[in-house]
Amino acid sequence: MGNELRAMCDCGYERTVEAGSCMGNYGSSLPFPYICPTCAELVIADILDPSAACPLCGETNLERYGSIVSNSPPKRSWFQKIFSDSEPHYVPTVFEENCPPLNSTVIIEPGRHKCPKCGHQGLKFEVTAWFD
Ligand SMILES: [Zn+2]
Ligand SMILES: [Zn+2]
Repeated sequence: MGNELRAMCDCGYERTVEAGSCMGNYGSSLPFPYICPTCAELVIADILDPSAACPLCGETNLERYGSIVSNSPPKRSWFQKIFSDSEPHYVPTVFEENCPPLNSTVIIEPGRHKCPKCGHQGLKFEVTAWFD
């Protein structure tokens, strides 16, 4: 499943992108938001492609948003979830996509991220649509 993500900054920068996997390419490519420092833009590149480049200018020195969280050790079972008081490993996310080729889950945390335009930590992501 893919997501339409809207990124908005206090400076007025706003961009809507599509991230995550679709049915057709699940497991083989994973579009994810990056900053292209050359374009000063939020762009989408394939997180599974080690030579992922900016689709606008070809820059390969991209700055990835979010985090890649290893799937091992495996997530806790329903039993542990129900009977534990706290969730120390729980990470709230705006966006989350399991990525089997990396044995990881890629996430975008809520809160402020670096804006490609003004460079400040003022960019917020929100999911505006889901698609298959
Ligand atoms: Zn670029
Ligand atoms: Zn900004």
